[in-house]
Amino acid sequence: MSDAYQRICLLHYHEIGLKGHNRASFELRLLHNAEALLKDFPLVAIHRVSGRLVCFFKEKTDRDTVLRAAELLKIIPGVARVSSGFKCPRILDVMGNVACCALEEVPHFETFKVQARRNHTDFPTNSMELNQRIGSVLCEHFPDKRVLMKSPDVVVGIEVVQNAVYVYAHSERGIGGLPVGSSGRVVCLLSSGIDSPVALWRMARRGAICIGLHFSGRPQTSDSSEYLVDDIAHVLERSGCIARVYVVPFGNYQKEIALSVPPAYRVIMYRRLMMKVAQRVALREGAGALVTGESLGQVASQTLENLQCTNDATTLPVFRPLIGCDKQEIIADAEKLTTFEISSQDASDCCTLFMPRNPETHGSLDQVHESEAVLPLERWIDEIMSALEVHDYNCPAYKKPKK
Ligand code: ATP
Ligand code: MG
Repeated sequence: MSDAYQRICLLHYHEIGLKGHNRASFELRLLHNAEALLKDFPLVAIHRVSGRLVCFFKEKTDRDTVLRAAELLKIIPGVARVSSGFKCPRILDVMGNVACCALEEVPHFETFKVQARRNHTDFPTNSMELNQRIGSVLCEHFPDKRVLMKSPDVVVGIEVVQNAVYVYAHSERGIGGLPVGSSGRVVCLLSSGIDSPVALWRMARRGAICIGLHFSGRPQTSDSSEYLVDDIAHVLERSGCIARVYVVPFGNYQKEIALSVPPAYRVIMYRRLMMKVAQRVALREGAGALVTGESLGQVASQTLENLQCTNDATTLPVFRPLIGCDKQEIIADAEKLTTFEISSQDASDCCTLFMPRNPETHGSLDQVHESEAVLPLERWIDEIMSALEVHDYNCPAYKKPKK
């Protein structure tokens, strides 16, 4: 019976709904992102309909396929909620039947209610009447189940639009935020650790196109951190959250720094060089800010003074989305994102290379500038820029910079 009706997913958004005159461009951005990320699913089209995006599936698409698509849709930035169900004509009897089909597909429930929404007043039955009419059909069809107004197990949604009705009984929260590509571009310093993938993801969820930049300890260490970063990027690309990753073989520069600056200042110097390289990458990519996974006080390089020493190395704004988070909160996000397991693997990277026994926790800018004066930074940065390795990922909103 459910085969008779076209399956659909409705994407609800929240913040986009608050936008004014530029709302259409946000909706179209989300539409194009969703279309590209669902390219392997049997979709007919995605359309904007009455403050929603509607994904229409091909005839005979089964329920599991639609639920798999919904799982993917709910992790795409900009999607506040995903509802899966059917499209049907605006005929009350048919709507009742379809509501029964939708509810039959819910595996376990005891209580339900109907929530109707009428977007066109040209449909004669108003939402209250619809709730009652469809509700009584369902009560008759499911005599063992109860109607409950406050927190029922299932809400049966009925949305009447201009030429059709959408009916669903499966609905889940999405991650919200704004569609990737609606807030410009940022360069994210991406280690293989737990924090920086979370920081990157938070910026993507605010609509930024994220370019990763990874400093490997190679040739002084193995390239194992690069494999982990690639695994992390593959996770992030499922929801279109990462566009590319630049890899810098950084070990030799760390060695040079370790030979020339006071041991306590090594870490600050590594960080400053990273920032300077990141700024050049940002220039190449047309990015407007740098992003790190730092949180205040977490390690020696993340004290207020040392953060100031790193900021001083660049003229771009440096965003630290995790600055006020504690480690448990960050781990919880990483677990949800499924990057935690990858980040928990041991990899030799530049973080562990040539570390001093007692790093400075209150770096002074005067000392920093004095130590840096002896380093051939401009030459190094030019060398690093010409030796960058680049890996591309699937980010529908991203366009490569012109050479
Ligand atoms: P993470 O878990 O992100 O590695 P962390 O707690 O280990 O963070 P640090 O090693 O002090 O902290 O790094 C702070 C931030 O500096 C990272 O979040 C990241 O943005 C940047 N960073 C550190 N190491 C690298 C690296 N090898 N490549 C790129 N960025 C790095
Ligand atoms: Mg680290």
